[in-house]
Amino acid sequence: MNFSKFGQKFTQPTGISQLMDDLGDALKSDQPINMLGGGNPARIDAVNEVFLETYRALGNDDANNTNELNSTALTSIGNYSNPQGDAAFIDALVGFFNRHYDWNLSADNVALTNGSQNAFFYLFNLFGGAFNDVNNETVDKSILLPLAPEYIGYSDVHVEGQHFAAVLPHIDTVTHDGEEGFFKYRVDFEALENLPALIEGRIGAICCSRPTNPTGNVLTDEEMSRLSDIAKRYDVPLIIDNAYGMPFPNIIYSDAHLTWDDNTILCFSLSKIGLPGVRTGIIVAAPEVIAAVSALNAVVNLSPTRFGAAIATPLLQDDRIKQLSDNEIKPFYQQQATTAVRLLKEAMGDYPMMIHKPEGAIFLWLWFKDLQITTDELYEILKKKGTLIVPSQHFFPGVDVTQYPHAHECIRMSIAADEQTLIDGIKVIGEVVRALYNGK
Ligand code: PLP
Repeated sequence: MNFSKFGQKFTQPTGISQLMDDLGDALKSDQPINMLGGGNPARIDAVNEVFLETYRALGNDDANNTNELNSTALTSIGNYSNPQGDAAFIDALVGFFNRHYDWNLSADNVALTNGSQNAFFYLFNLFGGAFNDVNNETVDKSILLPLAPEYIGYSDVHVEGQHFAAVLPHIDTVTHDGEEGFFKYRVDFEALENLPALIEGRIGAICCSRPTNPTGNVLTDEEMSRLSDIAKRYDVPLIIDNAYGMPFPNIIYSDAHLTWDDNTILCFSLSKIGLPGVRTGIIVAAPEVIAAVSALNAVVNLSPTRFGAAIATPLLQDDRIKQLSDNEIKPFYQQQATTAVRLLKEAMGDYPMMIHKPEGAIFLWLWFKDLQITTDELYEILKKKGTLIVPSQHFFPGVDVTQYPHAHECIRMSIAADEQTLIDGIKVIGEVVRALYNGK
């Protein structure tokens, strides 16, 4: 079959396709697999009970006082929404955000997408790629990632080529709960502000995930405010990927605040509260951006999926989504992080392993300094032993990883698995890594 250039670009093997294949295979496999590799959220019973109850109620909520054929479930699956997304959900989101933040939003500030991955496909192609400048000359603009490593799913979304510029981090040694053996990435603002692409007008947007996938880093309020100032100075939007952030799922343990203004594009998702299958992403932005996203939705999807919207609407209206996030989801992952850190320290505490300070998200990021093989090779060894993690080199879109050894020395492990899987998986990682450091 002859595919176009577009087809060839999107069918070549990518980091994200490898990750999704491994995840799918592990779920289908009849062999026991220690699944520490994927981005699937955890099963949290208290949260799932609320989803199930809401789901059941949608089928017989008798919305129009007639019968269940008029229930929200059937009205939402039996009709397209307009391309901006389900109107009742958008109204509930506007009410929710205005209740909790002084953003003064209207429905013109919110659009829905089929998962936030879909939003990044739109946004990175809207703000990265070929532009016409004032002289009608073509300028190639990139998405600036102020702090590499970043989310693997950004890497391949550009329709043509890859348009990323990334800034390598400052690596600070820090303590965590009074213990040594941790580090934290910080934005290198000097490198960022001196980046030729930024100064010369070849950046179309700045984007960061906060908390960051893969590291669990949370950029500080001060870092965010400096990024926001830089974005305004260069007249480009600041895109904040809030997939793990506040107010839902609120998997964030450091002291951080969320701000929004007209130059900020905030991306939310229902996935990490435990609903990845409903494919619901939310964009909060200036009306011009919302209109562009709606136009793209019309072409690509006709209208975004409505089922997630139907389930989440009542949870936003009475703030249950926030209570679940604060009282169930966040404490669950914080406990998982504590358990995983303890197990890792027991397994490899005497070796040169460092852990990125766990500040949020559903991962730990481990640094095996001076390991004599790359973590791509480590990934293959661990996979043969039935333990899946993700090697670090895929998390550096915009970085020439051949020139950056650190990009081959880390792994991402999910902490969403049950405790036994954490115990078994970390045991295998420990055995392999200790043997490598011991030169065996
Ligand atoms: N952004 C980040 C940082 C993620 O980790 C993910 C998924 O893992 C996404 C965006 C995309 O999520 P979804 O398309 O399920 O909303």
